[in-house]
Amino acid sequence: MRILLVEDEVMLRDGLTDLLEGAGHEVVAVGDGLTGAERGTAEAFDMVVLDLMLPRLDGLEVCRRLRLARPALPVLMLTAKGDEADKVAGLSTGADDYVTKPFSPRELLARVEVFARRLRATPAAPEIIVRGDLTLDLGRCACVRTGRPEEVLTAREVGILRWLVRHEGRAVSRAELLEHVWGLSPNLETRTVDVTIANLRKKVEDDPKDPSIIVSVKGVGYSFGPLARATTRGAGGAGGQR
Ligand code: CA
Repeated sequence: MRILLVEDEVMLRDGLTDLLEGAGHEVVAVGDGLTGAERGTAEAFDMVVLDLMLPRLDGLEVCRRLRLARPALPVLMLTAKGDEADKVAGLSTGADDYVTKPFSPRELLARVEVFARRLRATPAAPEIIVRGDLTLDLGRCACVRTGRPEEVLTAREVGILRWLVRHEGRAVSRAELLEHVWGLSPNLETRTVDVTIANLRKKVEDDPKDPSIIVSVKGVGYSFGPLARATTRGAGGAGGQR
């Protein structure tokens, strides 16, 4: 993995760099929060190891900024011993996991390996999706339907589509979209999601009132296309094994 390490304590930063590189990862190590947020939003990383207490910008704010720019980027937060409130805050701003200092090298590597495994298990989402006469080119933020002018997708709409496509065939809750696409707490009001989906449907659906691309799943949220059916004999497996 290509890992961004944000840690201001030089000894720990150097030690972690050696440790992660020794485990076969590529490490970019920076010593303050602002640089961490800038590089993390501008460059492609597979995960971020983020200290909580940082100069120039604290870890929570770095996490918040990363979440907005790169909703799918995993963040492992390093917290100081006994900072229970910080842990909770860290996880609610979108950190995926945390390790409490002092931690053993083994413990940290084990946590990082969880993310590496998850990354290997997730096939790269395609950037061009074709369904009937609809073509979504997510890299170009374009939505094309035969016989209609090309529509421009907003960054948020592209984020929603990426998340839905990656989880095609299963129901995705509004809370999940809020958390992963908006970087917001899933406890917030969920009307935002519905409004954005309604606008998105006007672009991608033949009939936004009877959607076939972004389907409503009653009581849950949405699914990209119809839900995968429970395994039936002879049906070409949708590849949902994990
Ligand atoms: Ca620190």
